[in-house]
Amino acid sequence: MERTLTILKPDCVRKQLIGAVIDKIERAGFRIVTMKKTKLTTETAGEFYAVHRERPFFGELVEFMSSGPCVPMILEKENAVADFRELIGATDPAEAAEGTIRKLYADSKGENIVHGSDSAENACNEAAFFFSTEETV
Ligand code: ATP
Repeated sequence: MERTLTILKPDCVRKQLIGAVIDKIERAGFRIVTMKKTKLTTETAGEFYAVHRERPFFGELVEFMSSGPCVPMILEKENAVADFRELIGATDPAEAAEGTIRKLYADSKGENIVHGSDSAENACNEAAFFFSTEETV
């Protein structure tokens, strides 16, 4: 069984869409392994998205991700990484397929409701970023 890491981003929390998004996730067959509500700082958000450090939108991304609480979750399912990215849709909601979480709920490429790991290896590293081993059973 594969695992992926998602973050319900600060726009999801502000828009009171935590329940709606979790409903979509569970209906799509993902098991919630663990979850919590937390708030990133500019430092921890920068660390999480360090791979984008040189990108022009990095400052905006860090500001947004630290602008309010978020809800990181570990999800489990066969083919979890790819299936979750299909469920959330393209980064830009304008390009996301009908019925996807970003198409339904996101406002822009920057404020796009959810994060989803892009590989099983990154999922593992990202899970360790938010959760201790004891929390991930
Ligand atoms: P995520 O990693 O959050 O699941 P993704 O893999 O779809 O998103 P990436 O290209 O890895 O997209 O970008 C990471 C995040 O950076 C995006 O989800 C978005 O919040 C932000 N981002 C990407 N491109 C832009 C942009 N052009 N302008 C503003 N923010 C952006």
